[in-house]
Amino acid sequence: GSDDQVAAGTASLKFKVNSDNVRYTDDHILAEYTYQNTRVTQDARGNVQVTPTDTVYHFKTDARLPKVGLMMVGWGGNNGSTLTASIVANRRNVQWRTKEGVRTPNYYGSLVQASTLKLGVDAQGQDVFIPFRDILPMVHPNDLVLGGWDINAANLAEAMERAQVLDYDLQRQLRDELSAYKPLPSIYYPDFIAANQSDRANNVLAGTKAENLAQIRADIREFREKHALDRVIVVWTANTERFASILPEVNDTADHLLRAVEAGHEEIAPSTVFAIASILEGVPFINGSPQNTFVPGVVELAERHRVYIGGDDFKSGQTKVKSVLVDFLVNAGIKPIGITSYNHLGNNDGKNLSAPQQFRSKEISKSNVVDDMVAANSILYRKNEHPDHVVVIKYVPAVGDSKRALDEYVSEIFMGGRNTISLYNTCEDSLLASPLIIDLVVITELMTRIQYRTQDMDAYAPFHSVLSILSYMLKAPMVPEGTPVVNALSKQRTAMENVFRACIGLPPQNDMLLEHKAF
Ligand code: NAD
Repeated sequence: GSDDQVAAGTASLKFKVNSDNVRYTDDHILAEYTYQNTRVTQDARGNVQVTPTDTVYHFKTDARLPKVGLMMVGWGGNNGSTLTASIVANRRNVQWRTKEGVRTPNYYGSLVQASTLKLGVDAQGQDVFIPFRDILPMVHPNDLVLGGWDINAANLAEAMERAQVLDYDLQRQLRDELSAYKPLPSIYYPDFIAANQSDRANNVLAGTKAENLAQIRADIREFREKHALDRVIVVWTANTERFASILPEVNDTADHLLRAVEAGHEEIAPSTVFAIASILEGVPFINGSPQNTFVPGVVELAERHRVYIGGDDFKSGQTKVKSVLVDFLVNAGIKPIGITSYNHLGNNDGKNLSAPQQFRSKEISKSNVVDDMVAANSILYRKNEHPDHVVVIKYVPAVGDSKRALDEYVSEIFMGGRNTISLYNTCEDSLLASPLIIDLVVITELMTRIQYRTQDMDAYAPFHSVLSILSYMLKAPMVPEGTPVVNALSKQRTAMENVFRACIGLPPQNDMLLEHKAF
């Protein structure tokens, strides 16, 4: 029967939702969804009122998959080259030999490609899981057209070899195809990245900031036309820059920012020029590094053009664990009082971060990750009380891309006791970050096809330009002004899952399993 098929064949279950609230047209999925929330208010006498609320949302998802181009800034870096080589390997199903035997390509580490979510229960009350990518129509990474810029001229085969991430037997088979991929010349303002990067800069644009902006816009248009793309997404996976100062009249508003680029103001970073170029071309821009690319003027510009932006800094290893562990401790009623994180790494990212200003960017993006969890528990923490939290990063060339992260969590437990958890993590940094780039691109692209309407709105509209739904993949999630930042990893994942369920008229995941709790 069909139930057996569901249980056995979950891997490729394609489905339609049977509900009066969901309608499928040739091109769209239309869903009516009641968003349930709880309003808490307090009157002058301190009485708290708690009221369940219902808000009806209409979601409209374009089910047609576009042809998508991904342009990476820093294409020839460890992440850019590893992602490119891995997508080519997956596309061609290239197998390679190691001392452990024959290896086949996969997308492990990509939430979209390699994780599942519970769709519902079968007739026997057993959970039915589907690949995350099947909850709504999503672009497959194998179908992305890849391109981008780098201040270094190495082609992608040379870049892959320089990165020392993938096995030789795999590199050998990808070499010919990758050597045809050549990064476009990029914007290099030496003051923004470490001085030790200067010998890499042999593929740079001349001219003024205004000319640089015009060139990047032209590059995006040309890439789109050449490959007949429906949509392009730009991801910054280039070096970490220093923070830019926020200056009145310079980068505090969209108009000031555009004028400052015309005037060639020195405080406009390369990453900000790329963000402006993308927004003006109607192209979403994602910042995978920690610096403040999204100065207030960029955010305003994105809002004005209704273009999606997301950032900051890929959440790949240490911070990801932190956003799980501290959530667990605080929600268990245990009080972390000291968190100390040491990193050492030997790739070019580590070399760049060995300079104080670039380290500072990373330190800031790594430091706020426990704030919301701590603030949520007023039993353990007084107002504005925080655990001691220290982050150290050192450059050790010998370990290459295989980053080490050593963490110590000291917590106060029952009746004055102390608990210390010590973690040691080692793995290739670029193999953690590359799948995150896929997830960021696939979900951002999906968001460009979803629109919503509430009863206060005349027409369907896109979401806010600042895509907080990407938080799961980002160390220091950027959110629209006035919105709470959520760092806890499981909440970030649940938010994605439930928003996508709502788009097909399904209730949020609740894990109550009430049907199994009766006698
Ligand atoms: P990488 O140094 O190997 O690559 C960066 C590339 O960017 C280099 O090829 C460099 O030549 C190029 N570049 C520098 N400035 C440029 C510019 N203005 N325009 C175009 N190209 C430019 O570094 P990576 O390991 O690939 O990491 C990339 C970024 O991602 C870093 O900022 C890093 O902090 C961030 N990040 C990485 C991880 C991870 O796990 N690998 C996690 C979070 C964040």
